[in-house]
Amino acid sequence: MKIAFIGLGNMGGGMAANLAKAGHEMRAFDLSEEALARAVEAGCRRAASAAEAVTGAEAVVTMLPAGKHVAGVYTGDVFPNAAPDTLLLDCSTIDVATARANIEAATARGLAAVDAPVSGGIAAANAGTLTFMVGGTGDAFVRAEPILAAMGKAVIHAGGAGAGQGAKICNNMLLGASMIATCETLALAQKLGLDPQTFFDIASVSSGQCWSLTSYAPLPGVGPVTPADNGYAGGFAAALMLKDLRLAMEAAASVGADVPMGSKARELYEAFVAADKDGRDFSAIIQTLQG
Ligand code: NAD
Repeated sequence: MKIAFIGLGNMGGGMAANLAKAGHEMRAFDLSEEALARAVEAGCRRAASAAEAVTGAEAVVTMLPAGKHVAGVYTGDVFPNAAPDTLLLDCSTIDVATARANIEAATARGLAAVDAPVSGGIAAANAGTLTFMVGGTGDAFVRAEPILAAMGKAVIHAGGAGAGQGAKICNNMLLGASMIATCETLALAQKLGLDPQTFFDIASVSSGQCWSLTSYAPLPGVGPVTPADNGYAGGFAAALMLKDLRLAMEAAASVGADVPMGSKARELYEAFVAADKDGRDFSAIIQTLQG
């Protein structure tokens, strides 16, 4: 299939490479020459502009920083150049309102579109093991599924337009809050004189068990190997967690939902990101909570 891929950064670079590996005819574009060169090395054809990438493509994948970038590319490059019935797949994490508006605008122009944000970081993007949460009609999902499957281990239809973004920010609000709860709990256990590994062994098989503890333990030398064992480098940057928590608060306000834990997590990550100059993993917030 002829696929345009716009946004070849940390995530998009690996995703475009996996689509090329799956045999698709890729036309890639990024504002960064460096990102574009990497995609060409991985088997994609260089496009001189997003408009050129979209022209003649049967599907268009976007992996961009935020809603304004996706809306800008859709309005400026995709809508004027996409052939009727082209399938648009936006895998970026963006606000629910913009995702819905983009899909509505695409549908009004005779295009098919889904929001398909991902769970999983750069390593999963490179390995083709992302989880995709998809919003859109059943017909659009059926068309999107095989394309997404070439980049991931799970592709789930979350519901109508915007439901993928809704699922993504709800999941990450839960993750942000549970990471902070895990960090403050480990800090307290240490202050109470407990050996962290012993506490890990107990909580891992008790009712406090959660992913932030057992799969992503925020202390070095405790549990499986995680970014904590690597000086909190790599992994999922705290700034990206903050971005998702801000989106979650925006979505919560739009429907009048009460989210006290999510709101506190956003406040704590705001302070952490403002003070952290190294772009560390979101689990590094344990150092703030240890005092
Ligand atoms: P990134 O900044 O590394 O990549 C974004 C790319 O988009 C850059 O290469 C940039 O040059 C390009 N770009 C920006 N505007 C453009 C335009 N108008 N036309 C063409 N290219 C343009 O970001 P990333 O880490 O790859 O994240 C991409 C998306 O995935 C974000 O929405 C992010 O929230 C989401 N996400 C990231 C991670 C992660 O671990 N990095 C995990 C899950 C989801």
